[in-house]
Amino acid sequence: MAGAGLKGARERRVRTGGIELCVAELGDAARPTVLLVHGYPDSKEVWSEVATRLAEEFHVVLYDVRGHGRSTAPAPLRGGFTLEKLTDDFLAVADAVSPDRPVHLVGHDWGSVQSWEFVTVPRTEGRIASFTSMSGPSLDHFGHWIKTRMTRPTPRRVGQLLGQGAKSWYVYMLHTPVLPELAWRGPLGKRWPKLLERLEKIPAGDYPTASLPGDAAHGAWLYRDNVRARLSRPRPDAFAHAPVQLITPTGDAFLSERLYDDLGSWVPQLTRRTLPAKHWVPRTRPDQLAAWIGEFVRAHEEPSARGARPAGQPVRKGVRPEHAERFGGQLVLVTGAASGIGRATAFAFAEAGARVVAVDRDAEGAARTAEMARLIGAPEAWGETADVSDEQEMEKLAAKVAADHGVVDVLVNNAGIGLTGSFFETTPEEWKRVLDVNLWGVIHGCRTFGAQMAARGQGGHIVNTASAAAFQPSRALPAYSTSKAAVLMLSECLRAELAGQDIGVSAICPGIVNTGITATTRFAGVADEAEEKRRQRKASRMYGLRNYPPEKVADAILDAVLHNRAVVPVTPEARGAHVLSRLAPNALRALARWQPPA
Ligand code: NAD
Repeated sequence: MAGAGLKGARERRVRTGGIELCVAELGDAARPTVLLVHGYPDSKEVWSEVATRLAEEFHVVLYDVRGHGRSTAPAPLRGGFTLEKLTDDFLAVADAVSPDRPVHLVGHDWGSVQSWEFVTVPRTEGRIASFTSMSGPSLDHFGHWIKTRMTRPTPRRVGQLLGQGAKSWYVYMLHTPVLPELAWRGPLGKRWPKLLERLEKIPAGDYPTASLPGDAAHGAWLYRDNVRARLSRPRPDAFAHAPVQLITPTGDAFLSERLYDDLGSWVPQLTRRTLPAKHWVPRTRPDQLAAWIGEFVRAHEEPSARGARPAGQPVRKGVRPEHAERFGGQLVLVTGAASGIGRATAFAFAEAGARVVAVDRDAEGAARTAEMARLIGAPEAWGETADVSDEQEMEKLAAKVAADHGVVDVLVNNAGIGLTGSFFETTPEEWKRVLDVNLWGVIHGCRTFGAQMAARGQGGHIVNTASAAAFQPSRALPAYSTSKAAVLMLSECLRAELAGQDIGVSAICPGIVNTGITATTRFAGVADEAEEKRRQRKASRMYGLRNYPPEKVADAILDAVLHNRAVVPVTPEARGAHVLSRLAPNALRALARWQPPA
């Protein structure tokens, strides 16, 4: 039923150019106004999940684009959907709902295409405070993008043109007369909800609404009235007069990421975000969108923030832009974050602008990591104390984090301890301890935080720190290596299980990394404390000489999430051992017999 997804919304009709637009409002009208514009073939209800989240803090306004939902259609249809007329509609709605203050514009798909027009024409100047765009380019920018690639072709540019050309098949179809209307009002309209569910993994429910066949038939004129005309004669001065946040779903079947390569020259204040998702992000990723929109609106609303760093931009030089684009504003939880690889990982996410939860059994160390994370770029960071091997503590922690900060987007199960000594020297208690922390710690992390991630149904990523010892046997490390091999296999199995839910799982396998682990590693069979200390110091010296920094492992962890890598050996010796484990396992077996000197 139309409107079913927008419970509690106040509705009004806004008249403009012979049309009546159906406008819905949520939240306190005294707050900054966020105006959501829907795409094709949709109605304003596509935004219902995002709108209800944003309404807790903002005045949220949605409207059915002319000819869609419960807005009336122009007559005749041809010529009734030009970008000029759509701009008239936007101004009429903005004037009705927020006469004295500029609005924060958000557009998806064709809602974004038309919003680009709003934000680049002079007559709307001063009416738009910010614009968040997703999955809908400016037709003018697109026109110039095509022209540049046609007039100065290189093999790469021709490839980009062909790539986008192939993704635009539906645009050509929509230009044929009558057929699209017949299809939408007939079989396609009936099958569309199931198709969306299957292909786009959109949860079943009150979307799409019953007005879909009419919306889709009318909306074909969005394409016919604008696409050919604009792409062949793009405006030369389509510069944005408001800050823009571009959210790019990396799995969009209809738009190539390359379309936005030249965007910086059109938008003076541009913030980029990427999301591993398909086209219909308002339905599949409402939490992430609401968080990013909220952050962007706040940054451009508070006078103190004006002229400051735009939301989503890294504070520090040297932070890779792709890390900031992907992790800015995300909630990341790292265990074993008081030291070594865990602390470096918490910092790397913080520098990329993520919100960080640093967990460790060392309470002071975790708090210090959180404090430093805030200093180097995390908008928020918290230290939490927990022993990862304790099931109940982990359950309690997961409930607390979810209640206080929400479901984590990236979980890094990193806490671990070292244990060396031959199989017969290792006591059952020592076996138990190392498996409890290194393996059960990971299991508890995945069961608690991973389960929340899966239940939320909006994707995410789990990183488990294994080790090169997972594939390189050694007579000196039976318990440690067994725990890490188990973590590697657990990660592979879970990766297979969660693949259908857009949750990636990566196993990180570092070699020798210069951290504090050597200072706490236990030596099985060494009863004398002084002797154990001596061996720990010796190992620390050796790790110090090797001197591979934990920051490089952290960088590999961020990349593993970004590219959804399954197994990531870090350090040259780990990479070498990984290759040998496949090509020449006997060589590794021979190496495994080597007894390191005491
Ligand atoms: P580290 O000792 O510097 O840091 C480990 C952190 O985990 C410490 O802060 C410690 O307090 C915490 N921790 C230990 N047990 C815990 C528990 N039960 N609950 C909560 N926190 C706990 O060591 P690191 O080198 O940074 O190790 C991090 C991970 O990397 C471990 O899983 C380790 O096995 C793995 N790893 C390290 C190396 C290396 O050479 N350093 C190589 C391969 C894999």
